[in-house]
Amino acid sequence: MHVIVLGAGVVGVAAAWYLREAGLQVTVIEAREGPGLETSFANGGHLSAASGPWAAPDVPGKLIRWIGREDAPLLLRLRWDPALIRWGLRFLANCTASAHAANTAAIGALCRLSAAETVALRDRLGIADETNRAGVLTLYTTEAELAGAADKRTRLAEAGIAAELVDRAGIARLEPALEQAAPRYLGGLFAADTETSDCHLFTAGLADHAARAGVAFRYGARAVAIAVEAGRARGVALAGGETVAADAVVLASGSWSPLLARSVGLGLPVYPGKGYSVTVPIAGRNGAPRIAVVDEHAKLYVARFADRLRVAGTLELAGWDKTPSAARQAATLAKMRALFPEGGDYARAVHWTGLRPMTPDGRPLLGATPIAGLWLDTGHGPLGWTMACGSGRLVAELITGRTPSLDPAAYALARF
Ligand SMILES: Cc1cc2nc3c(=O)[nH]c(=O)nc-3n(C[C@H](O)[C@H](O)[C@H](O)COP(=O)(O)OP(=O)(O)OC[C@H]3O[C@@H](n4cnc5c(N)ncnc54)[C@H](O)[C@@H]3O)c2cc1C
Repeated sequence: MHVIVLGAGVVGVAAAWYLREAGLQVTVIEAREGPGLETSFANGGHLSAASGPWAAPDVPGKLIRWIGREDAPLLLRLRWDPALIRWGLRFLANCTASAHAANTAAIGALCRLSAAETVALRDRLGIADETNRAGVLTLYTTEAELAGAADKRTRLAEAGIAAELVDRAGIARLEPALEQAAPRYLGGLFAADTETSDCHLFTAGLADHAARAGVAFRYGARAVAIAVEAGRARGVALAGGETVAADAVVLASGSWSPLLARSVGLGLPVYPGKGYSVTVPIAGRNGAPRIAVVDEHAKLYVARFADRLRVAGTLELAGWDKTPSAARQAATLAKMRALFPEGGDYARAVHWTGLRPMTPDGRPLLGATPIAGLWLDTGHGPLGWTMACGSGRLVAELITGRTPSLDPAAYALARF
């Protein structure tokens, strides 16, 4: 059986690996010149075993307060876009307490499976992705956020990760680089047994191993349509006229998945959520943190790689245009400097933007579609690095008819 995986981000490369491991012939088709060059390139790097969806009961109120604020953690650019309106109404419907609880449980189950799978795969293959196992400290600014720390601690415990609540003084004790910033926070939650690593290095390393195991990679090949014959996916049509034949197609094209699905009349509730990151060389500065940090209020994720410090986050709903907002870039850099004034060589900061493939409920879309032979592995939103390996494994299990590691119903397209 020959399977085409459409997209060589972390999600597509992981799917290709597990499909090949299951004994299938696999071809990956990727528009860019190599693996992991879109949203998987400079993300936050956090392997999050206990994150929830963006759609939460307090978000509608915040959204109204944040409208028009250029540095808001979630910025909705009001404009006439039917896809955004449809997506936005579904997102709001997922902000109820019951939907939030169900989505958090489904995301948590996949994150736990996937984070463990990622660590095992990295260790087995010896992929060098600048893993930092010093732990993650989440910082809370308001009483309401601090109250939520107890829930997060429970979710971490479900993932087998012990977490410790710390007060202001505890923040600076845990991470001396936060000494100046600590008074701005009410407290924190430190999970020692959690890690960050460079998603792009992992994706490129796994793609190398997959190629050696027999996966064919076609870079610089842009798909324009999924070829369907007699109601069944039969391959992929490329720009330039060639059609690559296959017995099955896995759509793993991140934020661009709904555009390709449209070629066969399939509507996917995936909308791009633009995010920003800034990476600075530490270059011998003595104020870089040893551990990873999350600022819950600003929705910013800090990771320390070997000799680089990165801060990533914020969400802007503004379509597929990747043009960055200079104001948002400046705000992200300013927040990083405020956290770690001596953290790195800020004059050499490198800015980046990526488009998270967001579903309204935060769960990815995994599994079958109404078109036989067309499978989904997309819509991983803000957690694609964390969920890629577990998703790849689950989709490979479904395609090959093996017992799935998790109940796939929670991630099926049929829920919409
Ligand atoms: C600022 C930011 C911070 C983040 N931080 C984290 C984090 O800390 N932890 C975490 O778990 N996740 C994080 N994420 C989310 C994560 O980066 C994404 O969910 C993940 O990268 C999505 O992977 P993907 O493979 O689905 O998409 P992509 O990496 O975008 O890959 C899709 C691929 O499909 C290709 N493609 C598209 N259309 C076509 C076509 N027509 N023909 C051929 N190829 C095509 C693209 O070129 C691309 O390479 C973050 C995201 C952002 C933006």
